[in-house]
Amino acid sequence: MLSADIVVVGSGMGGSTFAYGLAQRGFDVLVLERGERLPREPENFSAEAVFVQRRYKPDDTWYAVDGTPYAPGVHYVVGGNTKVYGSSLPRLRERDFEETRYPSGVSPAWPFTYADLEPYYVLAERLYRVHGTPAGSGPDQPFEPWRSSPYPFPALPHEPYIAETLRRLSEQGLHPTTTAMGVDLGPGGACVRCGTCDGFPCRWGAKSDAEVCALEPALATGSVRLVTGAYVDRLETDADGRISRAVGRHTDASTGAIEPLEVSGRVFTLAAGAANSAAVLLRSDVANSSGLVGARYMVHNNTHIAAIDPRRVNDVVFQKTACVNDFYDDLGDGYPGGTLQLIGKVQAAMMKTHATRAPMSLLRPMADRSVEWLVMSEDTPDPANRLSVDDRGRITVSWQRTNYDRHELLLAKAKNVLRKAGYVGIFEQRFDISMNSHMCGTIVAGDDPAASVVDRECRSHDVDNLYVVDAGFFPSSGAQNPALTIAANALRVAEAVPA
Ligand SMILES: Cc1cc2nc3c(=O)[nH]c(=O)nc-3n(C[C@H](O)[C@H](O)[C@H](O)COP(=O)(O)OP(=O)(O)OC[C@H]3O[C@@H](n4cnc5c(N)ncnc54)[C@H](O)[C@@H]3O)c2cc1C
Repeated sequence: MLSADIVVVGSGMGGSTFAYGLAQRGFDVLVLERGERLPREPENFSAEAVFVQRRYKPDDTWYAVDGTPYAPGVHYVVGGNTKVYGSSLPRLRERDFEETRYPSGVSPAWPFTYADLEPYYVLAERLYRVHGTPAGSGPDQPFEPWRSSPYPFPALPHEPYIAETLRRLSEQGLHPTTTAMGVDLGPGGACVRCGTCDGFPCRWGAKSDAEVCALEPALATGSVRLVTGAYVDRLETDADGRISRAVGRHTDASTGAIEPLEVSGRVFTLAAGAANSAAVLLRSDVANSSGLVGARYMVHNNTHIAAIDPRRVNDVVFQKTACVNDFYDDLGDGYPGGTLQLIGKVQAAMMKTHATRAPMSLLRPMADRSVEWLVMSEDTPDPANRLSVDDRGRITVSWQRTNYDRHELLLAKAKNVLRKAGYVGIFEQRFDISMNSHMCGTIVAGDDPAASVVDRECRSHDVDNLYVVDAGFFPSSGAQNPALTIAANALRVAEAVPA
């Protein structure tokens, strides 16, 4: 039986950042992580190993509501999904915290505002070494939210191919701007500005992931402990209905021996990711008087596009330096659109994982002449989109696209501006049920206990020693990458936990 004052389940963006915040207050913290440390090895940078052989993906299966099995976009390692994430760390916008009415859906208000979270965005940007250009520092930043403090590091410069593409977009009246990126780049930094950042683990520890930036410093304080191979199946309650134990199984990584896991504590925090935290609560049958645990599952409406200009070879190394937010608040019809972001340079082997029948002899020249973007817009929280667990504890996801008319319009707009910029061939890959990397919203925060699972401090309405600090608390998804908001919120909640 292990014990700690505060037990944290999961060491991803939410869990590790929360542990870091608690460590600053001197709490006795135990982080339970089902995975192990992701090894630093040559395969970290191999597209074949990472994308074709799926070397770092867990052997986990979820099910669509019709019973179709699929491999979810999750990584069960210390640091969670941040070990492979793209490290794009933008803030949500002020409007994202307010109610937004779309033609076919409502994005609800959060129980706290952008102004409430803003000081914690500042702290999270420092912790995660975010590079960006301060708002107001030039005419190219009109679509940034206000900030009380500049970015801690200067923006990553664009390579010549990208600079030329952005010039072509600017000629159309757009305002391409720098992507807020978390990397250890600069004098003495570990980043070598390679082409394998987005989607790959970093062999040099130069990517600002949760293990490197938050968990390691938290462990170094001595007040935080980590147990790997610790799978939490459920939480148990005492006679007063408070959580008394986390139970599951511990797997010894070196011997494979499996033993029961039992952990007691004063406060329990779920940070197992939006799906797995909801699954723990459902298996435990706690904190669900609203009936909303697992409901309002969101993932963003995302499409990858590869835009090809056959006359230009794209020789970029680090591609993920720019985004376009001109359509974020208004797509030209009075309703929000979303964001366009450059992603890491896609290699032919990565294209092959989707274009399975295309020969490499075709994919190589395509990859050499393409630039890749993520088109991201907001999905809305539909109670019918929900995650459930069956009697064997397996995760089933009921999911239909929501607010997708906005995505179609944004996608059409993105293709239009890229065609005008010289990209005659545009290929798209719409994210399907398995591409859930931005999942959120299964344990939503709100002031009304009948309409939310946790309160504005991410504490369960039903159980006063239970918190949730992963992406599950998001009442709406916004249309920016979620990780910085998860981190900022975890720091905010860490200040609110009573001693
Ligand atoms: C390829 C990829 C690229 C991405 N790029 C970006 C990006 O550029 N910017 C951005 O903002 N976001 C990005 N994301 C999304 C981002 O990584 C996630 O939003 C973020 O990591 C979610 O944080 P979390 O704390 O909710 O969960 P996670 O970070 O996934 O952490 C959950 C942790 O809980 C552990 N766990 C799960 N179940 C249990 C259990 N039962 N018991 C014990 N431990 C458990 C898991 O092993 C994991 O370590 C990307 C994701 C992927 C996959």
